[in-house]
Amino acid sequence: MMNRQGRPTAPGEGAAGRIETVLGHRGLDHEEALIFEIGQGGRSGVDLPDVPAVESRLGGLARNDTIGLPGLSEPQVVRHYVRLSRRNYAIDMGLYPLGSCTMKHNPRLNEKLARLPGLADLHPLAPLSTVSGAIELMGTLAHWLKVLTGMPAVALSPKAGAHGELCGMMAIRAAHVAKGEGALRTRVLVPESAHGTNPATAAYCGFKVDPVPATEDGRVDLAALKAKLGPDVAAIMLTNPNTCGLFERDILEIAEAVHGVGGYFYCDGANFNAIVGRVRPGDLGVDAMHINLHKTFSTPHGGGGPGSGPVVLSDALAPFAPLPWVVETDGGYTLVEAEAGESFGRMAAFHGQMGMFVRALAYMMSHGADGLAQAASDAVLAANYIQAKLSDVMTAAFEGPCMHEALFDDRFLKDTGVTTLDFAKAMIDEGYHPMTMYFPLVVHGAMLIEPTESESRESLDAFIAVMRALATAAKAGEVERFTGAPHYAPRRRLDETAAARKPVLRWTPAVPVQAAE
Ligand SMILES: *Cc1c(COP(=O)(O)O)cnc(C)c1O
Repeated sequence: MMNRQGRPTAPGEGAAGRIETVLGHRGLDHEEALIFEIGQGGRSGVDLPDVPAVESRLGGLARNDTIGLPGLSEPQVVRHYVRLSRRNYAIDMGLYPLGSCTMKHNPRLNEKLARLPGLADLHPLAPLSTVSGAIELMGTLAHWLKVLTGMPAVALSPKAGAHGELCGMMAIRAAHVAKGEGALRTRVLVPESAHGTNPATAAYCGFKVDPVPATEDGRVDLAALKAKLGPDVAAIMLTNPNTCGLFERDILEIAEAVHGVGGYFYCDGANFNAIVGRVRPGDLGVDAMHINLHKTFSTPHGGGGPGSGPVVLSDALAPFAPLPWVVETDGGYTLVEAEAGESFGRMAAFHGQMGMFVRALAYMMSHGADGLAQAASDAVLAANYIQAKLSDVMTAAFEGPCMHEALFDDRFLKDTGVTTLDFAKAMIDEGYHPMTMYFPLVVHGAMLIEPTESESRESLDAFIAVMRALATAAKAGEVERFTGAPHYAPRRRLDETAAARKPVLRWTPAVPVQAAE
């Protein structure tokens, strides 16, 4: 099968030097069908007693055909998921250069502590008096987050960066409403280089999104920003270091200008890992900032699963923080759960992601303040090493050193017939997950590389050698190596546009499931 760009999607097709194996396996990596296509109805991993005959109370609503679940034994289930898991690339397998995502090592110590039964087996409805240790842990984490950011308050409950953005913007809206300016403050300024979640959050909160252009050197255009300020500006949402991997030099002036018209400064803290222990966002005039524990503090990203995005708040916004919050009492800590003061409400049913709190605190305490600052410096050093070692064969998007990620554009691919997408696919053949592509939008054909501090020098050198070889091959006219890539992945070039625009979310059996008797 070919996708719309004429690239093969099935394994084997067009791959040079490949033999067809009997079952489609490749060495010890097995081809795997969908779970619905394996197993049979009636098979199960456990023996259940026959259902006793009871009078139906469903009033004619009882199911009258099979439920359509796949029937598999336990070993079949285990093999299915283990085989699929071998197709996943993971930070535990190799360098994962996805820029902005901060794919760093998840220390095993964090995992060990998160699995302690006293923490892992907590129930969110357990009476407070029985979980005072957990509350103290949350209080300690809150303390570290406040000290590291130089901010007076923190909401722990948001469950991702984007959820934290929502929390911060809801606090900002509540603050304007409290001043009687809710109807007036309708506009939120968002730099063009922002992560898509920023304008999405502002729009979701009912604000009008007003983009702020970038300068030639990849930073917010201060003059353009000032020209956009007015009494209807509710806030600016700014990332620092920004998504081009650059520190916003004018940040103090930006904060002052926004405050000058009565707006608030939301900082997207996804890149806090570049400055933690070295710069306190509170000193930069920030009013609210989310912290992606799964980026800066090494908790696992999960499959879109258990993220955690605490939000630190300034004195101006702290009164509007969502419930619950931890307060220190004479005897220790307690959780404020009931409606209180000007709080705008809740972000989540309970208190947030306990497992991630444990991991993040373990990371902070095992590093210490000096270790966290060292990690930030090492992340910046690793990114600059990559930028310096690749700049003669690839084109760095901006001049000068970067922060924690190196940004290249596609000028070096001009007239080669190879695109950023092709280049990324060729990286898969070489054993690397591609870097972030086509983001930030302010750079043409962007390639955003974030090595993080957890890569060794040898690992960085191996990656650099591959990237250099690919850049050289593209310029030497080896087009098919790129446009045909990936050659060695279990699937070839998929039609990603169709997958996003016309997702097929329902599996239809080839042979219709037989109606139950
Ligand atoms: C990752 C990221 C986000 C969103 O964080 P999630 O935890 O994925 O919701 C927002 N902004 C930037 C710059 C990011 O890198």
